[in-house]
Order: sequence, then C-alpha cells, then structure tokens
Amino acid sequence: MLVNNAFLLKRAFEGKYAVGAFNANNLEQIQGIIAGAEEENSPVILQASQGAISYAGLDVIAAIVLNIAKETNIPVSLHLDHGMSFEQNVKCLRAGFSSLMFDGSTLPFEENAAITKKVVEMAHPVGVSVEGELGRVAGTENKLTIDEINALLTQPDQAAEFTKLTGVDALAVAVGSVHRMRTQVANLDINRIREIRKAISIPLVLHGSSGVTDDSIKMAIREGLCKINVATALNMAFTQGMATALRAKPDEIDPRKILGVSRDEVKKVVKQKIRVFGSNGKA
Ligand SMILES: [Zn+2]
Repeated sequence: MLVNNAFLLKRAFEGKYAVGAFNANNLEQIQGIIAGAEEENSPVILQASQGAISYAGLDVIAAIVLNIAKETNIPVSLHLDHGMSFEQNVKCLRAGFSSLMFDGSTLPFEENAAITKKVVEMAHPVGVSVEGELGRVAGTENKLTIDEINALLTQPDQAAEFTKLTGVDALAVAVGSVHRMRTQVANLDINRIREIRKAISIPLVLHGSSGVTDDSIKMAIREGLCKINVATALNMAFTQGMATALRAKPDEIDPRKILGVSRDEVKKVVKQKIRVFGSNGKA
C-alpha cells in the first residue's frame, strides 16, 4: 500500500528504528528494493532523484512504483530526493509522489525557508509530506577538507527556527556524512544529533549513509534519526552484479539474465541495511 513519509517516520520515531530510503533509477533496482523489504517485512521508502527522473522519465518511475505499491502488502512511500526547485516538487506532486523534498541547502537561510514553506503549503492539503535540508551534506566530488565539511554542519538553533518557519515533516541534517562515499569509514557527530534533537521534535534524516559505519548509524538511530538514505551502496551492488554475471557467462545476450543478477544483489544489500536500521518486522 502507498503511504507518506510522515506516517512511516512517526512510527519509526516511536519505535526507535529508522526507515531506509532507497534510490532507484530503473525497473530492476525498484524490484530489488521492494523484494528486499518484503522479505524483511519492513516499511520502505523508494526515492527518485532529479537525475533518476531525467533518466527514466517522471511518469514512468511513478507508474512502476505506484503499481508495485498497490500490489504489495508492505507500506511503500514514493519520495522525491533532492528536489532542487519548487517546480520539480509541483511536477512530482502531480505525478502521484506521496512525499517531496525541497533541497535549498545551497541557498541563503531565508530563501531556503521561504521556498520550503511554499512546498509545504502545496503538499499538506493533499496528504503529501515534505522533507527540508538545513546545513549541507556535500558530495565526494566537492573534495572538501574536514574543516570545510564541519563548517557546513547543521546548527541546532537554526534547525529550530527553520522547522518553525516552514512546517516541514522531516529535516535532512548535515552531521558528518558525505554523499557518494564507497566505503563505510565515516563516523557521525552524535553530540550534534543529540543537540538538534533537543531543539526540534520532527524526524531527522541522514543522507550519505553509504560512507558511515554501521555502529555510528545505530547510535544515531538511538538519538532519533528516522530516515536513512541509501544510494551509493545500491549502485555498487547493481553494477557489480552485472560484472559478475558477464564474467560468468561472457556470451550471455539476454538482459534479463544479467540484470536479474543485479536485482538480486540490490535485494541483498537492502535486506542487510534494513536489519541495521531495525525496521525488519515493522511493516
Ligand atoms: Zn542526499
């Protein structure tokens, strides 16, 4: 069944676990994610970035996820990841997404808050939830130093003001992770999460989890982190699955035989992440 993020994250917050938000660009990634969540009997957030939307087509991605959501017994939310404009959020609302995100983290505070508020005012009357971002989770391509990453971390007092001004349902916070890391070596600023949690009561979201150690993620969940985005680890699993399939059978020309292996590899990673997040059995 299709639900929104606010519903899933409220339950996660009360139950002290986190819901995985898994990025998908194509049919087999979506199938792998749903199959993993079904086998773990876990709620799941399937999210599409603007890159995925321009790759696969907005209505195509929405149609696949919404049809799968109709057929499965686990709760599924379809979320826009890093919507960079108000217009992108409008398009996703119309396409049937149950959750939106406006990422104004590169904008001045007032501008970020003003546009986020507009998205909330549009989405809430039709039961669609909204995630905002304050502070900035950088990417490995930005090649920042530790000091530069620290300067972008979320300030608890600003988080409180942002939440009050915008009415968002969840807030993506910069607490030490970096997008697109391929190995799990980073630790989160747990104290900062605790301070942000004292300042605001809405669910917190972690981006860039593929580079964070499992122990640090578990600690952060205990401090109130409720949604954890996973993209890089799934992309790696998918691509390595293709490589394995082609190495084993170099003459294979049936895409289903190759991408089927990728789909299974995605499923395995999803199941493993769900267990770390503690959402298994919570569907
Ligand atoms: Zn992100």
